[in-house]
Amino acid sequence: MVKKYDYIIIGQGIAGSTLAWNLYFKNKTFLILDSENNNSASKAALGIYNPITGRRKALTWNLHKVFKGLEKFYTRVEKNIGIKILFKKDIHRPFKNNTDWNDWNIRLSNQNFQKIVKSIDDKKVITKMSGYVNVKKYLTQTRKYFKSKNRYYKYKLNDKNIVIKNNEIRLNGYYAKHIVMCMGIDQKKINFFNKLDIKEVSGNSVLTELDYSLNYIINKKISIINTSKNKFYIGSTYHNGSEDIGYIKMLDEARNILNKHLIFKKSFFGIRSASKDRRPIIGRHSRIKNLYIINGLGSKGISQAPYCSDKLFNYIENNKEINKEINIKRFIK
Ligand SMILES: Cc1cc2nc3c(=O)[nH]c(=O)nc-3n(C[C@H](O)[C@H](O)[C@H](O)COP(=O)(O)OP(=O)(O)OC[C@H]3O[C@@H](n4cnc5c(N)ncnc54)[C@H](O)[C@@H]3O)c2cc1C
Repeated sequence: MVKKYDYIIIGQGIAGSTLAWNLYFKNKTFLILDSENNNSASKAALGIYNPITGRRKALTWNLHKVFKGLEKFYTRVEKNIGIKILFKKDIHRPFKNNTDWNDWNIRLSNQNFQKIVKSIDDKKVITKMSGYVNVKKYLTQTRKYFKSKNRYYKYKLNDKNIVIKNNEIRLNGYYAKHIVMCMGIDQKKINFFNKLDIKEVSGNSVLTELDYSLNYIINKKISIINTSKNKFYIGSTYHNGSEDIGYIKMLDEARNILNKHLIFKKSFFGIRSASKDRRPIIGRHSRIKNLYIINGLGSKGISQAPYCSDKLFNYIENNKEINKEINIKRFIK
């Protein structure tokens, strides 16, 4: 007999894992199906969350609401898996030149920036409300946890497995009230939501070794985190498209910033899915009433996923409208 679930989640990257935990905390039944792609964005992510976005160093959209439940969410996951994944760390941002220092002093006239700056001098600014999630552990432990409860299976979705009847979606062999696609850039390969204008932004991160320790994150165009004894992760590169352009330049930059010889161990490559306005895309399919999506997390998956999955949940279960800035409706003519 086919088992019935409240939800099926397609994709177990940061978006799918986070939705799964949210459903678990709310006592919903669900199944996660994932094709275990090697180049998913989540597998390359450093996992940093920080209140500042992009080269122009703007404050993250909806900062206080998005960050409000973030640390609480990952701490709750930690309690279930019994492994530490969340590390709260300040970010040290060394200035390149006087212009950087001036720009930060101008930003500091804004009260919202004052709230995130811990200290500033003529060499660097230190910002707070930041840290990182060990994404590799988050993904593997989530998979292990839900596999042990028969809620996770390896499965590659393709159009042939999808049945549409009375404007409802079913997957051959599985039944659920709701299906949520969390497939990152591979959403484009499926016949649903494939008209969404999501762009490929590829990038690398690297694992290196150094006999040294840092109790904070460094950010100077690239980021450097010391995750455990001698282990340093460096990231990230950004390229429009899906090409793996490599990490050599970034590794040299990291060596210059630390003025130390980081020993290369391993590189990671992934393709982010970014919307035109660089905001997440969540909501329901325009025609199929039990089909939903979480996508477009860009370079902010760790901070946006808890907020977005909560918004989608409240939309489905409690009929609460999703904010227009992240609602899929903004792209549907
Ligand atoms: C180099 C790099 C560094 C980054 N650093 C950070 C960072 O420090 N902080 C941060 O917040 N974000 C970072 N990001 C961005 C972050 O990785 C993304 O925002 C996030 O991973 C997006 O997650 P996702 O679950 O939407 O998509 P994905 O990670 O792409 O996951 C999609 C999942 O769907 C599965 N899937 C795909 N097709 C199918 C199918 N047909 N059937 C079944 N399953 C399928 C895949 O196997 C995969 O598990 C970085 C990204 C890169 C590339």
